[in-house]
Amino acid sequence: MRFTLPRDIYYGRGTLETLKTIKGKRAIVVVGGGSMKRFGFLDRVVGYLKEAGMEVQLFENVEPDPSVETVMRGAEAMRAFQPDWIVAMGGGSPIDAAKAMWAFYEYPETTFEQLITPFSFPTLRTKAHFLAIPSTSGTATEVTAFSVITNYQTGVKYPLADFNITPDIAIVDPELAETMPQKLTAHTGMDALTHAIEAYVSTLNSPFTDPLAIKAIQMVFANLPASYEGDKNAREQMHYAQCLAGMAFSNALLGIVHSMAHKTGAAFSTGHIPHGCANAIYLPYVIQYNKKDATALARYADIARSIGLTGADDNALTDALCDKIREFNKKLSIPATLAEFGINEAEFKEKVAKIAELAVGDACTGSNPRAITPAEMEKLLNCTYYGTPVNF
Ligand code: FE
Repeated sequence: MRFTLPRDIYYGRGTLETLKTIKGKRAIVVVGGGSMKRFGFLDRVVGYLKEAGMEVQLFENVEPDPSVETVMRGAEAMRAFQPDWIVAMGGGSPIDAAKAMWAFYEYPETTFEQLITPFSFPTLRTKAHFLAIPSTSGTATEVTAFSVITNYQTGVKYPLADFNITPDIAIVDPELAETMPQKLTAHTGMDALTHAIEAYVSTLNSPFTDPLAIKAIQMVFANLPASYEGDKNAREQMHYAQCLAGMAFSNALLGIVHSMAHKTGAAFSTGHIPHGCANAIYLPYVIQYNKKDATALARYADIARSIGLTGADDNALTDALCDKIREFNKKLSIPATLAEFGINEAEFKEKVAKIAELAVGDACTGSNPRAITPAEMEKLLNCTYYGTPVNF
């Protein structure tokens, strides 16, 4: 068993300045579409790194759901510039892209096909160390061993998973998260809650991950609505909560809420279902499915008690937890079903069997507390479409 985290996590308002103390020669800054530039954070990062005596190069415009091509271009830029620090900042996408660039920078001969076998990465850090600065409060990629890269030619997503790509340093400065629009705050917040709940009931949960997951859950329930309404203190607490959730799930892994979100996110012609929104919709249904497993039921009841819910027995406590999640979704303007989200019924019916099969095969299914067949997954997806109770 192994429990891996970044060597250092700097947190708090203004900790971006920590960059002044990083020791190195050359830093490449990998960043997304422009909000970090617009709000002045990119200039500050470059300025601090220069103050640290480093030569700085930018790799800008990493797109949402980063592509294989972007990763290869970034790796090439790194091979030309030879950085000893990779500094990735922004939402999940630029940080995920930079993690993959790092692997191809250090091992130009490797391929995505070789990297997707979980926990089979070559040893990194022979050329560069990795520092991540998140601007959204959800994915926690700044502390996790994961990265998702999309091959747009084949429509395949490569989920990379290896403790080698757990960053060396994370800077969790809530000032960056204050730039999130309201909808993104809702979706990323529910993503973080899902990470913590799935990690807590995962078959790989451990005494090392449990306290991180429970604390993250308590902090999300205490702060997400106020963060959504723009309260700066709550926004700060959410930025830390998502990071704690990330530390838990990077080591305990996830479950079928994520399997379903991964395989439905881009499945329908009516438009993308944002990752956190999909998780928020599926979470109460999956809890109802998983609670048939006695160990999972006891763990959901733990979660319910930890946030002050009451109930006659573990079953009632678990139902109270589901009610609480539904109440949160309502407060955050997240739909309760896929129908309400706007997925076309005919298209859903046509695709659900295939999606169910793909979801069962997703990397996150293996650590779900209750096993699931494609036929059961299809039934479960139907419940999430129509809002019908899960009773199987
Ligand atoms: Fe997630």
